[in-house]
Amino acid sequence: IKKIGVLTSGGDSPGMNAAIRAAVRAGFYYDIEMYGIYRGYEGMINNDIKKLDSGHIAHVLERGGTFLKSARSADFRTVEGRQKAYENLKSHGIDALVVIGGDGSLTGAHLFYKEHGIPAIGLPGTIDNDLSGTDLTIGFDTACNTAIEAIDKIRDTATSHDRLFFVEVMGRDAGFIAINAGIGSAAAAILIPEKKMQIEELVDKLKARRKRKKTSNIVIVAEGGKSGGAAEIAKKVHKFLPFYDTKVTILGHLQRGGAPSSYDRLLASKLGVMAVEGLLAGKYDVMAGIINNKVVYTPIKRAIVDDKTVDEDDFRIAKILST
Ligand code: ATP
Repeated sequence: IKKIGVLTSGGDSPGMNAAIRAAVRAGFYYDIEMYGIYRGYEGMINNDIKKLDSGHIAHVLERGGTFLKSARSADFRTVEGRQKAYENLKSHGIDALVVIGGDGSLTGAHLFYKEHGIPAIGLPGTIDNDLSGTDLTIGFDTACNTAIEAIDKIRDTATSHDRLFFVEVMGRDAGFIAINAGIGSAAAAILIPEKKMQIEELVDKLKARRKRKKTSNIVIVAEGGKSGGAAEIAKKVHKFLPFYDTKVTILGHLQRGGAPSSYDRLLASKLGVMAVEGLLAGKYDVMAGIINNKVVYTPIKRAIVDDKTVDEDDFRIAKILST
């Protein structure tokens, strides 16, 4: 392997820059030419590819977002699109890839490897934490910190006015951000897609808290919840508890931004280096992740399987703490 292309794809996450920087630094260390592929697979198809030097990666580690930009590419889902991408890579002599993104991006890397034989290592870059083969994904910790900081502020106004707040957090169809941010901010209840909670049960919980004279009630709602988003839940609950001044806050994209936390910087830096070392060691079609503090390589096909769920203990702990 002489030339490695790096790209970020799908939803951006804090720490992607740190991962790019680490991969590029590792490449230079091993005398490999490093290329930035801009706007994910879209840039591969449009030949938006540039050779990187150390100037490109100076002072990016601490910045949120991705300086390589990210995109979703419909063309890459087609055989013709991937063929065009392959020809562009060949024209630069790029013979391996580091793909930083979520399950969709890694699926693309897997397909591309199968079709064109370009060795690829994936890095789990998503705030959702919904990839197997790693305890946490790059960006998840920062997103939880951001959510908690925001919820702390909401609590101030909730307490001052005895309000009932429904705060919607991101996470797609996974409840990882919700459960972490909920435990970390002493939420009254946490609604996650993995567990069904009836409106009646939630109402009883809130009634019990009122009896115990709890002055602020913040319910965390994961965006992918089966019973609806925060607005929908708030409306249903309000019918049972009309005496509450009920408010809804959707945290939205602010959870994707900001400087990466110390953990995300470390995770991204370790995985960036291990991606390049993995490629050099002939580990292809795998995702690098950290499990129990050790870097492990998991076949992409397994990493993208949707079998990572919120820990039962976490859910139980959240319940105990909010009772
Ligand atoms: P996030 O979890 O943050 O949404 P993601 O990587 O899962 O990130 P997707 O939009 O699912 O985001 O995928 C990113 C890109 O990967 C797509 O726009 C597409 O170009 C490519 N991709 C996804 N699935 C496939 C597939 N089955 N075949 C080929 N390419 C794919």
